[in-house]
Amino acid sequence: MEEIVSCPKCRGYMYSERFADFALTFFAWKCINCGTVMDQDIIDNKTGMHANHMKMIAGVPVAS
Ligand SMILES: [Zn+2]
Repeated sequence: MEEIVSCPKCRGYMYSERFADFALTFFAWKCINCGTVMDQDIIDNKTGMHANHMKMIAGVPVAS
């Protein structure tokens, strides 16, 4: 699934770039305009509010 991400600072086009940490490799979004780097988790937290909320609900035991 392709998703278009625009920079929160300058609305520039962001592309996914692979970053290497000590133990893991991960993808983050980088702005071609101003160089802002956004971790995928940050994007998920911003756009996945509803999904996280649903997960919290799912984690609560429901009396039947
Ligand atoms: Zn930017």
